[in-house]
Amino acid sequence: MKAIALIAHDRCKQDMIAFARVHSATLRQRALIATRTTGMLLERDAGLEVECVLSGPEGGDLQIGAQIAEGNIAAVIFLRDVLTSQPHEPDITALLRVCDVHNIPLATNLATAELLVAGLA
Ligand code: PGA
Repeated sequence: MKAIALIAHDRCKQDMIAFARVHSATLRQRALIATRTTGMLLERDAGLEVECVLSGPEGGDLQIGAQIAEGNIAAVIFLRDVLTSQPHEPDITALLRVCDVHNIPLATNLATAELLVAGLA
């Protein structure tokens, strides 16, 4: 089964953990892949098993984007901090783009993430 990718910018990480705790039963049914810090927090604080790639600023968004292009990802939950400028903005744009290129469901806020997970359940 294809994996779910999870990414949260720093100011959104607590939201991601709270979300993952609520939806852990659904998330546990899939392989999970995340950027490094997000993944480590999901393992530690939500008790999930997560494959971690590099941190976002180090290229993790691009690694997940490559997995999307390879056809390995079912959906992406990407909680973005749109009020803070990110040093890896081009990588973020590339990740959003590759989701659209491959028609992969992409949630960039909690409201959409809720709908996405309901669809996967
Ligand atoms: P992180 O990467 O999960 O390693 O913090 C996400 C990001 O900030 O782009």
